[in-house]
Amino acid sequence: MVMDNLGGALKDVFKRLTGSVFVSEKLIDEIVREIQRALLAADVDVKLVFELTNKIKERALDEKPKPGVTPKENVTKIVYEELVNFFGQEKKGIEIMKKKGKPFKIMMVGLFGAGKTTTIGKLSKYYSNRGNKIAMVGMDVHRPAAHTQLKQIADSLKMDCYVDAKEKDPVKIWKKYEKDLSKYDVLIFDTAGRDALSKDLVKEIKSVSKVVKPDETLLVLSADIGQAAYKQAEMFHESCGVTGIVVSKLDGTAKGGGSLSACAATGAPIKFIGVGEKMDDLEAFNPEGFVGRLLGLGDLEALLEKAKGVVDEKDAKKLSKKVLSGDFNFIDMYEQLSAMKKMGPLSKVMEMIPGVGSMKLPKDVLDVQQDKLDNWKFILDSCTKEELEDPEKISRARIDRIAKGSGRKVSEIRDLLKQYRQSKKIMKMMKGGSPEKMMKKFGNMKGPKFKF
Ligand code: GDP
Repeated sequence: MVMDNLGGALKDVFKRLTGSVFVSEKLIDEIVREIQRALLAADVDVKLVFELTNKIKERALDEKPKPGVTPKENVTKIVYEELVNFFGQEKKGIEIMKKKGKPFKIMMVGLFGAGKTTTIGKLSKYYSNRGNKIAMVGMDVHRPAAHTQLKQIADSLKMDCYVDAKEKDPVKIWKKYEKDLSKYDVLIFDTAGRDALSKDLVKEIKSVSKVVKPDETLLVLSADIGQAAYKQAEMFHESCGVTGIVVSKLDGTAKGGGSLSACAATGAPIKFIGVGEKMDDLEAFNPEGFVGRLLGLGDLEALLEKAKGVVDEKDAKKLSKKVLSGDFNFIDMYEQLSAMKKMGPLSKVMEMIPGVGSMKLPKDVLDVQQDKLDNWKFILDSCTKEELEDPEKISRARIDRIAKGSGRKVSEIRDLLKQYRQSKKIMKMMKGGSPEKMMKKFGNMKGPKFKF
């Protein structure tokens, strides 16, 4: 997998977060420190690391979770969002605009060995797979093997390639093929490379750019240069009008975090990433998906949906206020049952109460099966107003009456009363004590004793 080391280290951070009981300042500090360690090991610039982790810490301490989102989920979401920002926010790639007789032109630039020629092949395949007619055009007039290499890649993909090994002037190459090239949807131009970005190289790229007038100029950078990518990306961006970056060889380096974050920091968008030597190993860069995969957060989408506030905040507040007042009867429970589908089970409502959400509450008390709930509704419908307001008044004789009226078994009514008493006990504890005290009490809590 791409960026295994960074991914592995960040996954450990999330394991620690999930395994913890409370989200405390201490935990946030620890998490932030581990994220710093992971990013520094991936060759991310120290300044960028600290900027990022300061933001994470600030938000984790200040931002209250939305209803239905636990503090732990909230911190996960914050770390995820900040990492996405860190790697460039929006989904990139390039949208090809097809105009008859006017091909979409992509000019590739980069230093020797960056992976430029390979990327030209990968991009050709990428756009060909999407229904475009492609031609590769060789404009590297200096390196003798450049034409052969480009031609070989084009042949392996069974695609058209225009090169002229004898011609030393890129402008003349363009003039020679311009008419023929107008029948393609996308043209991908190879340009000369150098060992470093020299004045000569800038001049040459500019002169090719002037005649070709590319729609996109993509810089190919090798991921193994780590944070040095910042300087290279910035220089190419400023001198050659680069419109986007392809970070190649992300599969083979521990420095991928450094190169990606450095590119993102220049403001030049990362459009694609190269993740292997094969022609299929190219991905349009999508920071959200990339970070999600890096962190191994399969459930992320669901979490983010929830964080958007799918849960009705007002209803949740109303109920949690009632719950906290300790004034909890069958009617409240009935209301809770009716609201269940909209709000999620009682455990979810509990999670919305500050200080309670992160606790591991006994699951069987809080999460009741849906079919059980449906039956309980029948039972509650057969209760008198008096019984609903004070379920303790439900005697053995009343249980028999309710069983008959609702068509449910006596044992089910007892079950409901048991649920009510356990819930009420929890409410009472929450009203009075600190979450820690409550946890202790849970340790001692046994099933309630029945009076009947
Ligand atoms: P150029 O000098 O910029 O044209 O670089 P090349 O395209 O010739 O690539 C240099 C080397 O890097 C070749 O051996 C490629 O196979 C390899 N390469 C290019 N992209 C990737 C990539 O995404 N992953 C891996 N593992 N190797 C790559």
